[in-house]
Amino acid sequence: MSQRVTIEQLADWLRDRDDIVVMGHVSPDGDATGSTLALWHALRAMGKRAVVCLPGGMPLLYAWLSGADQILDTETDTLPFEPKTALAVDVSEYDRLGEAGMKRFDSCLYQGVLDHHKTNEGFGQLFVLDGEAAAVGELAVDLITALGVGMDANMAECLFVAISTDCGNFNYSNTRPQTFIAAARCVEAGASADRITEKLYRTRTLGRTRLLGAVLAGLEVSPDGKVAWARLTDEMLRCCDADKEDSEGIINYLIEMIGVKVAVLAIERQEGTKLSLRSKTPFNVARDVAVPLGGGGHDCAAGVLLAMPLEEALQKTLAMAREAVDKTTAEMINA
Ligand code: AMP
Ligand code: MN
Ligand code: MN
Repeated sequence: MSQRVTIEQLADWLRDRDDIVVMGHVSPDGDATGSTLALWHALRAMGKRAVVCLPGGMPLLYAWLSGADQILDTETDTLPFEPKTALAVDVSEYDRLGEAGMKRFDSCLYQGVLDHHKTNEGFGQLFVLDGEAAAVGELAVDLITALGVGMDANMAECLFVAISTDCGNFNYSNTRPQTFIAAARCVEAGASADRITEKLYRTRTLGRTRLLGAVLAGLEVSPDGKVAWARLTDEMLRCCDADKEDSEGIINYLIEMIGVKVAVLAIERQEGTKLSLRSKTPFNVARDVAVPLGGGGHDCAAGVLLAMPLEEALQKTLAMAREAVDKTTAEMINA
């Protein structure tokens, strides 16, 4: 049975722990990478033995973050010590740790979770969950403060990345006053908003640019213009000389189209097909599409991995997306 606790209680608990593995979710994004890395920096600043593990290792997109080269691959790397404590960060459910991550988490005597996904039902022995936080990075700023660690420029940069990437650089509706406050504290501690946002949003490789073109060339929209979808195959990655992380952000082009309420990007994966889902309020892709299919996420940004070939997975998801759009549209008319 896991116990829901406050950030202060998690800090007290962490203070008594050592030999810690900080873990993120599969397909680690900016929040998972930045938040785990910042907490790893903080735990080490406290004199603790700690490692940071992400499934697949360091995401290339964030290779420039300080300490990124220290990120171990949950799946393939041997840890330098046997961890006693696991801290899962930005992991909305146990499965999202990945196969190897779940084993590693289970092998730890102490298990904590720090998360912000409303769909998180809680796992581990104790968990902090703030479904209103735009990013775990927001909560990690508070956790580092509660731990009594002075935030240095390295932690600040990682946390600014975590916060900025999860709230669309302070554009999405999840952005709240605390999001700006947390980001301001990062800037105060030495994070450069200009340098970071240039790296994140104003530079891209040739491969990434080509991939965007290839995916958008196959864009489809329903006759009423409310559902948009596209496919991203291994073949496209090869042709464009792109990396699988280069898919990040492409879905925005789909949901940003005028009239589109729900967007679906189907991405070919070794294990099946990853569906990236986005919606405009009040359309809710987490509740109406991702969760019923076994995935999760946020109201307007969710995902699921289906063990099916791309086309089958896409059609199944599109059928649910269609139903969700019709249901919510009807509710809006009747309201
Ligand atoms: P993405 O489309 O990969 O950017 O994911 C959007 C959101 O959906 C993320 O914040 C994740 O929390 C959630 N998500 C993505 N994939 C999955 C999955 N396979 N299972 C549960 N939640 C997911
Ligand atoms: Mn995440
Ligand atoms: Mn997050």
